[in-house]
Amino acid sequence: MEEEVLRQTNFIRNIIDHDLQSGKHTQVITRFPPEPNGYLHIGHVKSICLNFGIARDYGGVCFMRFDDTNPEKEETEYIESILEDVKWLGFDWGDNQTYASDYFDQLYAYALKLIQEGKAYVCHLSFEQIREYRGTLKEPGKNSPYRNRSIEENRQLFEQMKNRELEEGECVLRAKIDMSSPNLNLRDPILYRIKKKSHPMTGDQWCIYPMYDFTHALSDSLEKVTHSLCTLEFEDHRPLYDWTLEEVQADPHPQQIEFSRLFLKYTVTSKRKLNQLVTEKYVDGWDDPRMVTIAGMRRRGFSAEALKYFIERVGISKSENYTEMTLLEDSVRETLDKTAPRVMSVLRPLKMVITNYPPDQEEECEASNHPKDEGMGKRTIPFSREIYIEREDFRESANKKFKRLVLGKNVRLRYAYIVTCVEVIKDDNDEIIEIHCEYDPETKSGMGSEKKAKGVIHWVSAKHAQSLEIRLYDRLFTKAIPDAKDGTEFTDHINPKSLEILTDSVVEPSLQKAKIGDRFQFERQGYFCIDRDSAPEKLIVNRTVTLRDSWAKLEQEAQQ
Ligand code: ATP
Ligand code: MG
Repeated sequence: MEEEVLRQTNFIRNIIDHDLQSGKHTQVITRFPPEPNGYLHIGHVKSICLNFGIARDYGGVCFMRFDDTNPEKEETEYIESILEDVKWLGFDWGDNQTYASDYFDQLYAYALKLIQEGKAYVCHLSFEQIREYRGTLKEPGKNSPYRNRSIEENRQLFEQMKNRELEEGECVLRAKIDMSSPNLNLRDPILYRIKKKSHPMTGDQWCIYPMYDFTHALSDSLEKVTHSLCTLEFEDHRPLYDWTLEEVQADPHPQQIEFSRLFLKYTVTSKRKLNQLVTEKYVDGWDDPRMVTIAGMRRRGFSAEALKYFIERVGISKSENYTEMTLLEDSVRETLDKTAPRVMSVLRPLKMVITNYPPDQEEECEASNHPKDEGMGKRTIPFSREIYIEREDFRESANKKFKRLVLGKNVRLRYAYIVTCVEVIKDDNDEIIEIHCEYDPETKSGMGSEKKAKGVIHWVSAKHAQSLEIRLYDRLFTKAIPDAKDGTEFTDHINPKSLEILTDSVVEPSLQKAKIGDRFQFERQGYFCIDRDSAPEKLIVNRTVTLRDSWAKLEQEAQQ
C-alpha cells in the first residue's frame, strides 16, 4: 500500500520531472530545514515526506539542515529530538546533516560583499523605528537616515558589531533594496542583528546572527539545493530569496517552490503554541500523547507508516484548507488493523462467577491473534470459574437492541462458552458488585456446537488477569479551529476530557510479555500501545485510537 501511494505525483514532482528531462539538473537536491526551537509536529511530517521522499525517489540527496540562527530560542534537546523523529519516520540523510551555523563564516563574507558593493548598510534606527519607517501595504516606507553611509563606514561598523563593540539593539545590518517596493520584504530587510547569547553550536564565537531569509537562500546555494521547497507564507519572501542570491552572485541559484501548509482540525500546529501547552502545563511534556508532535504521536502508538500514509492522502498542492482529524485517525486505524495483534482486555471490570464451573478447574481457550491474518498465529487464553467482563456489557433489563448480557438471558464469551445470567449481587448502595452465571459445557467455541447466543462479549479470567493502567486519550481541543482569530485564546478550548485514567483494568496474561511501544487491538475497545512509563511491576497502556470514529457519531447526533 505505502510504496504505491508514496509515488503519487504532484505539481512539484512535475516540475522536477521537467527539470530532469530538459537537462537543467542531473541530480535532485532538497533539504528539510527546521529551526530547533521545539519538537517537530504533524505539519513537519508533510515537509519531511516531501523533501526526503523526493530525494529518495529521484536518487537524489536531502540535507537535514538545522536553521539555527536564533540562539535565544534554540536548544540542543530540540536538535536531538528532531534527529530522532526524522529517523523514526524512516528517512536517512547519510552524511548530510548540516547547520546554518556551519556557514556563519561564509554568510559573513557574503554580507561584507554586499556592503562593499553598496548593497547593505548599518542602520541605527531602533527596531520600533524600523517598523514605523517600513510603511504599510498602502503606504510606501521612508528611507532610513543611515541609508547613505559610506561603504567604509558601513564596513567598520559591521566589524564593530561582530567584535562585540556595540550593544544588542543598537544597530543592525540591512539590505539596501527599495523602501517603496510593494513587497514589504524588500523594504530594506534586516540581514544581521546583535544577540549576545551563547549559541548551541558556535558557543560565544559570534554575537551577530544572520536573519532567516538571507541565511536560508545562501545555505540552499552552498548545499547546491536544486529545489527549495517551503510553505506558502514564504511566497512573499521569494523576491528577497532571489535578490540575495543574485546580488552576491551565488552559484547555483536554487528554485524556491511553495506548497500549502498542513492545517489539522481539533489541534494546533505551531511550535510556539505547542510550547505554550507544555510550559503552561496543559499537557505533560512535548511527548504527551495528546500532542500532535511526532514524539507525542509515537508515544500514543501512531506508527510511522500511518503518518506517512496520512500525508500521502492529504497530498501536495497550493490550496490551503483544514484537514479533518478523522483522516489522521482513520489512517492510524487502517494501518493498525493490519498489524496489531488482538487481545482481550476489560477496561471497567465487573466480576462474573460461573457457579456451575468447578472451583479448582481451569482450561485453555484457543484464540487467533488476527482474524484476517492466519500468519500471526494463535495463542491460548486461560478460562476459570471467575472472570471479569465489561461493566457496560451487563444490564439487569434491556430491550432487544442490547446484544450483550442481560439477567435471565445468555451471551457468548468470546473463544469460550455460552453463559446465562442467573443472579445479580448488589452492595448496600444497590450497586452491582458481581453477577452469577451458569455455563453450558456443550458450547465451547470451536467444538462445533449448534447453540447460538445473540451476542458475544470479551472477558478476562480473574485468577490469571494482569492488571494495568489504561490512559484513554481524546482530542485535545473541543473546537475544530481552536486558534481561530475570534477573540478567544486557543487554550480556552482545551477538552477537559482529553485524558481519562483507568486504574482497575485487566488484560489477559499474554500481555505480560509485551515491550514498550508494542501495539495491540483490545477487542471491541480500540488500539492500544505500551507506554514508555510502563514497567514489569506496573503495566501502562495508552489508547491510540478507538475502533470507530466516535466523534463523527457525536457530530451527527448534534446535527439531528
Ligand atoms: P512552526 O510555526 O511550527 O514553528 P515553522 O514553519 O516555523 O513552523 P520550521 O522549523 O521553520 O517551522 O519548519 C521546517 C520546515 O517545515 C519548513 O520548511 C516549514 O515550511 C515546514 N513546515 C512547518 N510547519 C508545516 C506545516 N504545518 N505544514 C507543512 N510544512 C510545514
Ligand atoms: Mg518558526
